Amino acid sequence: MHDDGRYDDRRVNGPAGRSSGDPVSRETDYPGWSASEEPGSPSTRSPECEPVARRDVPARPVSSAPANVPLAREPHDPTDGPANAPSTRPAPARGNAAVPARYEPQPPVSGVPQQPGPVASVSGVVIPADTPPTPGYEAEPDPGTYVSRETPTREEDDPPLAMEAMRAVQILNPSGEVTMPRPERTRVMCVANQKGGVGKTTTTVNLAVALALHGNRVLVVDLDPQGNASTGLNVPHHTGVPDVYDCLIDSVPLEEVAQAVEGIPNLWCVPATIDLAGAEIELVSVVARESRLARAIAAYPGHFDYVFIDCPPSLGLLTVNALVAAQEVLIPIQCEYYALEGLNQLINNINLVRQHLNPRLDVSTILLTMYDRRTRLADAVEQDVRNHFGDKVLQAVIPRNVRVSEAPSYGQSVMTYDPGSRGATSYFEAAQEIAERGVKEPVSRNA
Ligand code: ADP
Ligand code: MG
Repeated sequence: MHDDGRYDDRRVNGPAGRSSGDPVSRETDYPGWSASEEPGSPSTRSPECEPVARRDVPARPVSSAPANVPLAREPHDPTDGPANAPSTRPAPARGNAAVPARYEPQPPVSGVPQQPGPVASVSGVVIPADTPPTPGYEAEPDPGTYVSRETPTREEDDPPLAMEAMRAVQILNPSGEVTMPRPERTRVMCVANQKGGVGKTTTTVNLAVALALHGNRVLVVDLDPQGNASTGLNVPHHTGVPDVYDCLIDSVPLEEVAQAVEGIPNLWCVPATIDLAGAEIELVSVVARESRLARAIAAYPGHFDYVFIDCPPSLGLLTVNALVAAQEVLIPIQCEYYALEGLNQLINNINLVRQHLNPRLDVSTILLTMYDRRTRLADAVEQDVRNHFGDKVLQAVIPRNVRVSEAPSYGQSVMTYDPGSRGATSYFEAAQEIAERGVKEPVSRNA
C-alpha cells in the first residue's frame, strides 16, 4: 500500500494479477447483481437488495396464521444462519411518536443511575440487582410457552422489547458461558474516524447493547449532529429534546439529558439533536472549549463501566472534545479501497491531543467493518491493517451484513433485531474481546 492509503494493482488484484473479467469483481459482490448491469438497477436486484423499511414505509404486517403454520419469511441474508428471522413487529415510529400502548416506555432516567449492585441473571440476561423491573413483563417466561418472533400467533403475542433482549442473549450466549467482565474503572471510548460511513455509529450502538446485555452499565454519548446513534437506540432526539449540545454549550449536567434506552437494561444514551450542528462554531468562543465534554463526563455522579462517544465524520472541535474526554480510541476501519487513506490525519490529531490536552489517550482498539469475504480486496485491507496496527486490531471482524443495515430502521441494534445473524454474532464477539482486554490490561495505560 502507498503512504496515502492507495493499493497498487498487484495487491488489489491478488498476487497473480487478475483481468478485469475476473469473476471475483466488485460488480459481483452482491447476490443478484449481474456483472454487466449497474448495482441497484431495479431489474437486477435480488430480494436481499431491496430497500429496507423506513419509518415512512407501512409497517410489516403481523401474521394472524395459527402457530403451527409456517409463516412467510422475510427475504433473508444468505450469509446468515437460517434459524433466526427478524422480528415481524411493525417498525416503531421514531422520536417521541407513539409506540404501541403495550410497550410502556421505561421511565426516563431521572437524575443519576444507581451505583451498580450485585448482578442477577434472568434467563441468561444479566441485570444488575438495582435495575428497576422493566415494565411489560413480570416473571421469567416459561421456556415451554415462549413464543418466538418467527411464529407470533396474534399481535398481542409479539413480545415486548425486554423479551427481545432476553431472546437475544439466549441466542447469542445460549449456555451463558460467555461473560463480559466489568472493568475496574470506567472505560471512556471514543469511536472515531473522520471518514463517514465506515461503521462508527453501528459499532457504537451494537457494542454498547452487547455489553449492556451482559451486565455492564453503559452510556452512549451521541456527538454527531446527525443523531444516528440516538436513532439506532430509538431515543427521542427531535428539536426541543435536551441533548448533548446543552451539556457542551450551556453546561447542563449530563445526567439531566441522559435517557434510558427502552428494552435494554443498563444502557443510557445522551442524544444529539440537530442543534448540535451549530456547536462546532459556538464552541470556538466558549471557555475551555476542548474539554467541555470531558468535564461533563467527569462530573457525572453515577458509575458506568463504559462510555462510548460516537464522533461525527470530521476532525473539528466536537471530535477534539471526544478525544479529550476519552482514555481510549476505537477506530472502525471499513474493508474497502481507500480504507487507510486519511487515517494518518486522524492519528496525527490523536497525537496532538495526547501531547497537549490528554496524555492518557491511547488508540486501543481497531475494528474491521463491512468485511466482504467474497473480495480479495477485503483480505488485502485486513492484512495491511493488521501489519500496521498489530494486536490493537480485534480478532473479530464485522462482515457486511444486510441485517446490520436494516436494524436501525426498526429502532434496534442488530443484537436484538436478528441475534442469530452474522452481524450480531460478530459484534457480540467484538464486545467480548473488548471486555476481556479491559480486564487483562486494566486501564493502567490510562493512569
Ligand atoms: P458512520 O457512523 O461511520 O458514518 P454508519 O455506522 O452510520 O457509519 O454506517 C454507514 C452505513 O453502513 C449505514 O447505513 C449502516 O447501516 C451501514 N452499515 C454499517 N455496518 C454495516 C455492516 N456490517 N453491514 C452492512 N451495512 C453496514
Ligand atoms: Mg455516524
